[in-house]
Amino acid sequence: MREIVTLACTECKRRNYTTTKNKRKHPDRLNFKKYCKFCKKHTVHRETR
Ligand SMILES: [Zn+2]
Repeated sequence: MREIVTLACTECKRRNYTTTKNKRKHPDRLNFKKYCKFCKKHTVHRETR
């Protein structure tokens, strides 16, 4: 039951990362703080579909 999710930077809206997550454990959208090479800094990345 692991699904691939895409993480998009909330500042430039680019999709920088994909990851997998367990939707049973995390049914709602996740926010990850990750490095965005377009913003050249750490930004919040939000789960998108
Ligand atoms: Zn960015």
